[in-house]
Amino acid sequence: MPPLKNKLAWSFSRMRTFDSCRRRYYYQHYLKWGGWDERAPEERRLAYRLSRITSADQLAGELVHQGIEDALRRFRSNRLVVGADELVATALVKWDRKLAESQSGRWKYDPKRVTCLVEDYYSLPDRDGRLARGKERVEVCLRSFCASRTWEELRRGRVANWMAMDGDSFETVEVLGIPTYGRPDLAYDASPPDEPKSRLRVFDWKTGSPRDSDVLQVRFYALLAESRWDFSPESVRARLVYLFPSPVEQTVAVTAEGIEDGKRVLLESWELMKSVLADVDENIPLGIEHFPVTRRPELCLRCPFQEICHDRPGSSPSAAAATEEDDFDPFA
Ligand code: SF4
Repeated sequence: MPPLKNKLAWSFSRMRTFDSCRRRYYYQHYLKWGGWDERAPEERRLAYRLSRITSADQLAGELVHQGIEDALRRFRSNRLVVGADELVATALVKWDRKLAESQSGRWKYDPKRVTCLVEDYYSLPDRDGRLARGKERVEVCLRSFCASRTWEELRRGRVANWMAMDGDSFETVEVLGIPTYGRPDLAYDASPPDEPKSRLRVFDWKTGSPRDSDVLQVRFYALLAESRWDFSPESVRARLVYLFPSPVEQTVAVTAEGIEDGKRVLLESWELMKSVLADVDENIPLGIEHFPVTRRPELCLRCPFQEICHDRPGSSPSAAAATEEDDFDPFA
C-alpha cells in the first residue's frame, strides 16, 4: 500500500488550532505525520503519541456525543427511545474504563487505542477535581439532552429526513474551491414536499458554555450545506443545544451578511494556512521557527505537546490559572 499523503484540507477545528497556537498546529498537523510507523524518527513518533493524549473535558465531550449518537441511531433503526438512566450508565462505564486505561500507562505502546489523559501524563494539579467535574459533565449533558425540546421534536419528525449524523464518516467537500471537512452533529431536511431543498435544519450538541465562535461555525455549516447537499446557505437554520452546566437551546438564523462573513473568514484562514507552507501542492511546512508558540500561557497547561515544546510560555506557576474548559476543539 502506498504511504498515506498528508493533504491540506480546511476545517473549523484546524482553524481554531491555527489561531490559538501555531506551534501546536505544527506539531498536530505536520510533525506527528507518519509517527505511527515504528520506522519513523523518534521525534515524529513521540509527537504522534502526544497527539493522541486527551483531557478530561475532551473525554467527557466525546462520551456525550457517543451517547447521543447511540440514542439517535437506535431511534432511527427501530424507534426505540433510550432512557436517560441507560445512556448515563453506559457512558459512565466507558468513563471508568478510560480512566483505568489512562492510569495503566499502556497508551505508550498503543496510543491509537488506549486512552491517556493529560491530567495523568503531566500530573496536573487538581487532577481529581477535574476528573470529578468531567464525570459530572457526562451525566448532566446526557440528562439534559434526554429532557430537551430538540430531542422531543426530532422524535416527532421523520427519521427518513435525517441526513447526516455524528459518527458518519467525514468526507472532504469543496467550498469556494477549498477542500474542507466537517459536519454538524445532525442535519435534517425540513422542506415541504412542494418545495424541495428549501429548509435545512442543523443541530450541534455543545458540552461547554456558549462561545462567540459557535455562530461562526454555523455559518460554515451553511456554506458546507450548499456543496454537500445542494441546499442554499440561506435555507439553513441551526440549533445549538448547550447541555452544560444548564441546558440552553439556541436557534441561529443564517443571514446573507453572516454567509458573506463566513466566506471571508474561510478564505482568509485558508490563505494563512498556505502562507506557512514551503510547498503548497505537497503540503510541506516551513521550518518550525515559522510556527511561534502562543502568547497565552493558560493554553499550555493542558496541551499534550508540553513535553516537546521547550520554549512554551506556560512553564511558570502563574500560568497555571487555566480556564475551566480546553480552548481547543474536543474533536480536532
Ligand atoms: S505547550 Fe503551549 S506553546 Fe507549546 S504547543 Fe502547546 S499550547 Fe502551544
